[in-house]
Amino acid sequence: MAKSLVLERKGVLALRDIDVPDQMTAESLRVQIRNVGICGSDVHFYTHGRIGPFVVEKPLVLGHEASGTVIEVGSAVKNFKVGDRVCMEPGVPTLSSRAAKLGIYNVDTSVTFWACPPVHGCLTGAVVHPAAFTYKLPDDVSYAEGAMIEPLAVAVQACAKARLQPADVCLVTGCGPIGILVALAAIASGASKVFISDMTAPKLEAASSFEGLIPVNIQKESIERVVRAHCGEDWGVDVAFDASGHPSAYGSLLACVRPGGQIVLVGMPVEKVEFDVVGAQAKEIEIKTVFRYCNVYDRAIALLASGKIDVKPLITATFPFSESVQAFERAASGRPSDIKLQIKMPA
Ligand code: ZN
Repeated sequence: MAKSLVLERKGVLALRDIDVPDQMTAESLRVQIRNVGICGSDVHFYTHGRIGPFVVEKPLVLGHEASGTVIEVGSAVKNFKVGDRVCMEPGVPTLSSRAAKLGIYNVDTSVTFWACPPVHGCLTGAVVHPAAFTYKLPDDVSYAEGAMIEPLAVAVQACAKARLQPADVCLVTGCGPIGILVALAAIASGASKVFISDMTAPKLEAASSFEGLIPVNIQKESIERVVRAHCGEDWGVDVAFDASGHPSAYGSLLACVRPGGQIVLVGMPVEKVEFDVVGAQAKEIEIKTVFRYCNVYDRAIALLASGKIDVKPLITATFPFSESVQAFERAASGRPSDIKLQIKMPA
């Protein structure tokens, strides 16, 4: 039994003891959890009880964005020792699966992912996790930053898929944590500038503090007009990322991308959305999709360690574990000035 943040059912959270898997194997590590970021998906399970086919049917420990300290090392593990500071990929595939063998383990249908029912998450004292999906944090990367690697990995996956070219001009629709991280990863990948659009002024203000990011408030100005003014009347951005999942974004992506450019879909719309296929054909747009990440954790960690990306300004507030329920209530209230909320576990 371990004290954990448990989603009992839709809308009901409790901080209580619950049985979590704690059986070590030769290839695993036991990791004491340090910092955990609250993700939109955690909040959605709390407020809606489901995401698509994943339904909360029994009590579920939440949390999947974690850093921690190794406290036990499996007998076959060579490259970790007790005391190592680490972060973990929350998704673990079956390594013998066809998808894993193809190098696309993120789309392995048998992947188990923290806090995606029925798999428990990491808002608990310690987890047992495969060493193969655990990564050491450099000395100058804090536990708080380490818990930002998971969302940053989504952004790095998006930029890696886009194969950005030097000085590409980009657009990101959606200025939540993933949108800002996609924009920062694009700049770190060589983009010359990134327009980032939203309707929430405080979020855009946070984005404006980063070099190369150009915030566009779509309540005040048309993103299409801003992009045209910059790229030319008959041109557009090289790569348009969506990080909002909002039905209105897909038309903007198409209107703003240049002929032959790319649209990269990162945000997940709640319902099916309309999309102008002929409009995309007329520009011969390449459309790419992103589901979590695959083989990019090392790159995400290196971007933080090198100083090319600073995620510290994105961590708005940190709650002690004892106030996890309040932290989730605040996340669910959707304060416009909140970017990332974190929970800090007792040392
Ligand atoms: Zn997340």
